[in-house]
Amino acid sequence: MSENRTELESLGEFGLIDHLTKQFENRNSSTLVGIGDDAAVVSISETEAQLISTDMLIEGVHFNLMYMPLKHLGYKAVAVNVSDICAMNAVAEQITVSIAVSNRFPIEALEELYEGINTACKVYNVDLIGGDTSTSMSGMTISITAIGRSKKTNISYRSGAKENDILIATGDLGAAYMGLQVLEREKEVYNANPAIQPDLDGHDYVIERQLKPEARVDVIRFLKELDVVPTAMIDISDGLASEIMHICKSSEVGCHIYDEKIPIDAKTSMTAIDFNLDPVTCALNGGEDYELLFTIKQEDFDKIKGNPHMTPIGHITHKNDGMYYIDKSGSAIELQAQGWNHF
Ligand code: ADP
Ligand code: MG
Repeated sequence: MSENRTELESLGEFGLIDHLTKQFENRNSSTLVGIGDDAAVVSISETEAQLISTDMLIEGVHFNLMYMPLKHLGYKAVAVNVSDICAMNAVAEQITVSIAVSNRFPIEALEELYEGINTACKVYNVDLIGGDTSTSMSGMTISITAIGRSKKTNISYRSGAKENDILIATGDLGAAYMGLQVLEREKEVYNANPAIQPDLDGHDYVIERQLKPEARVDVIRFLKELDVVPTAMIDISDGLASEIMHICKSSEVGCHIYDEKIPIDAKTSMTAIDFNLDPVTCALNGGEDYELLFTIKQEDFDKIKGNPHMTPIGHITHKNDGMYYIDKSGSAIELQAQGWNHF
């Protein structure tokens, strides 16, 4: 370690990953893609590859046990990892689970966590094949690795989007962020006066999207049935704007997305307005929806047109045209990623 001290926040999450890993080279020809996509891609035969992805959840950073039941936490920890395998147009088959827990937690609490993990294993048809267990000085940390498999020719990378491809978002966006706002608001009310009961009425949908997100394995199945291989794909964990920018940067292209096309559930809009927030801003910059964002060739558009799970939100342009969001008045606004920055 040098004597200089550089603060973590000077680089941000992606800058830090890049800074730490740039001197690494891949030494094995089986490593098809390493750092930089939703999952690493490792060749296992002439035609097949394995997809591997890890995500860590930390108490106080990614979850708050005051409003996150442990069962839901276990489920969510699996779902977000399965989502990263979906983002490669593949399905997960195995997971490993590593936990570090302080003695604040009784065995019953960990049983509840594992009940949620088990439910997710059943729903997503994945096998728990290992992990690691340790004590921690404070709080709980869960790290999950998901492993999937796919034909090499079916894998969608962040880097494959081409000019004129259509940008598609699945489901609806911004709900998980609004769920978090409701839960945080009620936490503040409770902290100020524990006698007041939380008022979660009318917010069931957004709260469920925050506490129990689903990986879109159903969309991966639809795409297979429809015989569509997305030219590029990513999962929406950090907000639509940030994910579109990842695809555009990796693919060296630009984009236009249209305000009025962004899918937002009416219940999300109502909650956003209640909080004096613009629903579209929540969809663009709120995190944790775990929907998929992908690009398809124009000629594949007829196959997905009208599908209630998939909404066209814009198209890919030349890199020199930049990355723009077109608002309701037709003005083009340059996209800015806010996303989550934990540092
Ligand atoms: P996602 O949001 O899809 O989970 P991340 O933004 O966490 O992806 O990570 C981006 C890329 O950087 C991934 O390829 C991931 O494996 C890699 N990565 C993240 N942290 C590290 C690390 N500490 N060392 C090596 N690679 C890392
Ligand atoms: Mg991802």
